[in-house]
Amino acid sequence: MRIGIDVGGTKIEAVALAAGGAEQLRLRVPTPRGDYAATLQVIASLVGAIEQQIGCAGSVGVGIPGTISPATGLVKNANSTWLNGRSLDRDLESLLSRPVRIANDANCFAVSEAVDGAGADAGVVFGVILGTGVGGGVAIARQPRIGANAIAGEWGHNPLPWPTREESAGPPCYCGRSGCIETFLSGPGFARDFAAASGHHATPPQIIALATAGDTDALAAIDRYQHRLARALATVINLLDPDVIVLGGGMSKVDSLYQAVPRLWERWVFSDAVVTPLRRNRHGDASGVRGAAWLCGRPPGAPPARRASRSTGAEGAPRSTPGTQHSGGGSTSSWCRRRSRAKRSNRWTMWSAMPSAR
Ligand SMILES: [Zn+2]
Repeated sequence: MRIGIDVGGTKIEAVALAAGGAEQLRLRVPTPRGDYAATLQVIASLVGAIEQQIGCAGSVGVGIPGTISPATGLVKNANSTWLNGRSLDRDLESLLSRPVRIANDANCFAVSEAVDGAGADAGVVFGVILGTGVGGGVAIARQPRIGANAIAGEWGHNPLPWPTREESAGPPCYCGRSGCIETFLSGPGFARDFAAASGHHATPPQIIALATAGDTDALAAIDRYQHRLARALATVINLLDPDVIVLGGGMSKVDSLYQAVPRLWERWVFSDAVVTPLRRNRHGDASGVRGAAWLCGRPPGAPPARRASRSTGAEGAPRSTPGTQHSGGGSTSSWCRRRSRAKRSNRWTMWSAMPSAR
């Protein structure tokens, strides 16, 4: 059994996957915002609750809205700021008494869609989350590409390419710069653009509904959004040339993107023809937590793990390799023992009162 944990800004979700990827159980609790110790306890409790209900110990992978810095071993870049500067992997290993793998949530999304989602037929998947923020992740042969600095795929804080005169200054971004892709392509960025152009404030779902009803301001906002997404993804194709690009997050629900954007990006991609498919995710909101579960062991269809190499940055290398976030050894199967053999702890008992979303 593989257990995946997705640490979000408002909720922490856990899933248990059987060997073939079938979902056995999913739990969801509110994130104890600002409280690191409580966050650790919630994660441990979710793992305990799953193992208690299923009766089997599992491997644990965790997706976070940041990454573990290879330079310090501490969390960086998390907009859930109470995680930053913390030794999350080691603390969880200590709490759970087993190896724990941690990856950025966009990487988890890419892995999930690469293993058995919209990119299951592709060797290289670029996964994009267009939500409250904008993140990207790369999965190669169904494993996350982490990178020497653990930021592979972090394209949301590149500047919006080929900006128009109106776009060139760009809105300020929380990262300290202005005009980041995220400031245009996130849900809040889309709503801000609509409000600036129309004078009306609306949420992204409301704007999408207005566009469906034929509202000209909403249609124009979606048109600008599509042009910006096409330019931003053209730079990804020029750099990485992935076999498929998969969209996730709230803005991935805009149906017109999948036809319009590939038609638009041709003018900015340095190629005579562009065959890259742009696809909607298959696993929806569950993709992040499923990808976290797949961090452990070899997913179905993945090639055999390679020996440690400083150049790959792919999962499967030992902890000492920069760019990996593998915390210790141990195969998935070795963690899927009968619960009677697993280490028991009284801390699981609090779980009888914990709420579940499903
Ligand atoms: Zn930024």
